[in-house]
Amino acid sequence: MTPEEFRVAAHVLVDWIADHRARIADLPVAARVAPGEVAAALPAQAPERPEPFAAVLADLERVVVPGVTQTQSPHFFGWFPSNASAASVLGDLASSGLAALGITWASAPALTEVEEVVTEWLRELTGLPAGWRGAIHDTASTACLVALLAARERASGLSQNRGGLQSEPAPLTVYTSPEAHSSVGKAALLAGFGAANVRHVDVDPRTRAMCPDALAAAMEEDLAAGRRPAAVVVAVGTTGTTAIDPLADLAPIAARYGAWVHVDAAMAGSALLLPERRWMIDGVESADSLCWNPHKWLGTVLDCSLLYVRDPAELISVMSTNPSYLRSSADGEVTQYRDWGIPLGRRFRALKLWFHLRLDGVEAIRVRLRRDLANAAWLAAQVEQAPDWRLVAPLTLQTVCLRHEPADLLDADGATSDELDRHTLAWVAAVNGSGRAFVTPSLLDGRWMVRVSVGAEATEREHVAALWALLQEAAVAAGRAPAG
Ligand code: PLP
Repeated sequence: MTPEEFRVAAHVLVDWIADHRARIADLPVAARVAPGEVAAALPAQAPERPEPFAAVLADLERVVVPGVTQTQSPHFFGWFPSNASAASVLGDLASSGLAALGITWASAPALTEVEEVVTEWLRELTGLPAGWRGAIHDTASTACLVALLAARERASGLSQNRGGLQSEPAPLTVYTSPEAHSSVGKAALLAGFGAANVRHVDVDPRTRAMCPDALAAAMEEDLAAGRRPAAVVVAVGTTGTTAIDPLADLAPIAARYGAWVHVDAAMAGSALLLPERRWMIDGVESADSLCWNPHKWLGTVLDCSLLYVRDPAELISVMSTNPSYLRSSADGEVTQYRDWGIPLGRRFRALKLWFHLRLDGVEAIRVRLRRDLANAAWLAAQVEQAPDWRLVAPLTLQTVCLRHEPADLLDADGATSDELDRHTLAWVAAVNGSGRAFVTPSLLDGRWMVRVSVGAEATEREHVAALWALLQEAAVAAGRAPAG
């Protein structure tokens, strides 16, 4: 494709994206394809000869769009906000167009330095301590793995330079909440701690936040048994119910044992832009690392996850490499992000964050986040006031956890039942199948509930009100349907 051909096609594509965004409220929200349907609509072999751009665009519309859940729809209340602000999409396009190669500072100094600047902007905007440094990773899963690798090496005195974990005399242990995201357990396994050394510390049954006393007891028990506490992963905003572990109480306990404290605020971190929500990370000055995802609620298009660390030297001592072909006279004066994480080659992710913050401005982002909090509080109030409906977890941020509990589906003692589970799944399926909204069923204490995650960029109060009407309509209709 020549630059001129690119210019023509790109204009068409940008028009298509703008049109897609303009009509998104009218599209069915959930992906509406059967397994294998997308693949079956595509040719089995790659084309030998170039196809016209119009043919590709037609397939994008015909095959791909129905195969995608419309996370940018104002009716999207699923999983977590997965916002992709148009400003950040432009930054992503600029990044791809520039195609900078980030393998060393010298290969694209701007790639490193824009990243240093935007992560510093966001450090300050989120109230993280001065001196903490940030880097952009693909996901919170990777960020957690990086933090646990650093924790492992700190606890073992850089065992990787000897026989690795395999030659350590005492097992290293990791502590987290049973409510923590699955990526935490996965990172602990990938970092070699072993499932037998991952502790799921008790949570307060009401708030679902980790109990400091239970953490202290678990660490003490491990120490007494000859194991070495290495890391505590604190969840600030769990995936299920947005529970907030009390960092200020947990970090000093971890410090007694020299354990690394990683804060996973993947979803909730966006709220740190609001000064009134900074209490969520009280005590962070005693932590070692914190991750949050601008690619969730903030709205910087996937993939954009920030990992802040108190001391980057702890990453560098574990992850630095220095092959001769990457050396330059600037070494020693500049940041080499390849030494702060796993990949060598980095793309220019900072551009989408830079575009996003510059083109939208922080003030408008704060207004939007506060709007979402108010909308979630409004919905929670409706649920609390409605007969037969119940909030099943405290509302801490923008995720409303609810259930329709008609008396005839509860056990005699008022407890939930299998029949209630079937009812919940039936009305959720009706909501999601209608195409008019999308919410997520999720298990809580072994019973199904529904998470309504408010915060799509386009979602206003009217959309939340429409959702509430739809939920009630679907629940009543499911209640009338013959039991199956
Ligand atoms: N941590 C929490 C609390 C999350 O909610 C999620 C995703 O929902 C993750 C981690 C994983 O995020 P990522 O997809 O960026 O790995």
